[in-house]
Amino acid sequence: MTAVHAALTDGALPPELEAYFAERAEAVDRGTADVRDGLRHLADHGLLAHPDLATNCAVIEGVARHCLTSAFSAWAHTMVAEYLSLSGSSALQAELPRLRRAETIGSTAMAPAMQHLVGLADLGVQFRHDRERYVVDGAVRWASNLFIEGFLVVVGAAGPDGARAVLAIASDAPGVHAGEPLELLALGATRSSSLRFEGVALDPSGVVSADFAPFLRAVKPRFLLLQSSFCLGLARGALEGARLGLERSFAAFRGEHDRLSADLHALGARHRRLIGDLGPTPAVVAHRLEVARMAQRAVDVELRVAGGGGYRASSSTARRLREAAFLPIQSPTEGHLLFELERAAPDEVSAPAAGGAR
Ligand SMILES: Cc1cc2nc3c(=O)[nH]c(=O)nc-3n(C[C@H](O)[C@H](O)[C@H](O)COP(=O)(O)OP(=O)(O)OC[C@H]3O[C@@H](n4cnc5c(N)ncnc54)[C@H](O)[C@@H]3O)c2cc1C
Repeated sequence: MTAVHAALTDGALPPELEAYFAERAEAVDRGTADVRDGLRHLADHGLLAHPDLATNCAVIEGVARHCLTSAFSAWAHTMVAEYLSLSGSSALQAELPRLRRAETIGSTAMAPAMQHLVGLADLGVQFRHDRERYVVDGAVRWASNLFIEGFLVVVGAAGPDGARAVLAIASDAPGVHAGEPLELLALGATRSSSLRFEGVALDPSGVVSADFAPFLRAVKPRFLLLQSSFCLGLARGALEGARLGLERSFAAFRGEHDRLSADLHALGARHRRLIGDLGPTPAVVAHRLEVARMAQRAVDVELRVAGGGGYRASSSTARRLREAAFLPIQSPTEGHLLFELERAAPDEVSAPAAGGAR
């Protein structure tokens, strides 16, 4: 473990990295700074798409404390490294060092696959075989990190005779079309849009896994815990933002702030325990729902404490408010999480106690 890794505690990054993401958060939000510079900066510190999940969670939490846009881009990129490291393809594994140096940018278009796994949606992308190659057609409505200069996207696809696979496709393959980046409430710099595949030919070495459901089940706790990390980071940033105004604020808000700070502490401890045991999935699903809701409450109290100043478009409070609006619609959406929890056995759902967390 390097000194930098040892310094990653409790969602805090080394001070130089904290300052880097804090200083550029506003420019990233306005879309005048490139999130890839943040990925490269993490790579320069050996902290991008690290082989260790706990390190990735701490990094994403620490970045989200200052800038959810940068953290979300890092999440998408990191997920691609997670998929490739669990893949049986040696060609894809060989791509990992380039991902860790941010020379390849990763995009995960796996929301439909995660929905499909629990019976909520069709995959939207199909493959057929042409001799030994896979030929891919179809579309996904959303993916991020769709940079015109290039990306590697991982997507689920349905094949002949009920086969399903997870595929990694380079953006320069003929037939890959990314939509124009969309104007968004927040996270605009993540270059999020739709993707279309038209007769894209893929070598079998581009198959991340042909064992669709077991692969997704294996990756899902990581997927959810890394998302939970950016929820916790956003919550921490909001409670710190609120703290600045608490001195002159009402006692009711101070009480609410204290309770949420205790919740954050307890959820953070549970988060690290879940990262340690990586499961069971329903407990992680419950945790992901709880941390997302908690982050929204934290942002809400920050606004009430900040008052009118927090409603100014250029304030970091207003930015966090827009960022937090993303949490319930990020796949698995709040609806999807509730759908899964309703179907899970009660003893599977109970996430290890988070102390005071409600
Ligand atoms: C800025 C941004 C970046 C994104 N980046 C990525 C990315 O990098 N990768 C990625 O994979 N996705 C990405 N997404 C997509 C995201 O993860 C969600 O999949 C998407 O926001 C859900 O919106 P939708 O319109 O597709 O909703 P839908 O999935 O159509 O859902 C709309 C509503 O209906 C509910 N619903 C859906 N299905 C059912 C059902 N069968 N029964 C009952 N209720 C149902 C949902 O819970 C939700 O409340 C991104 C989205 C945004 C906004």
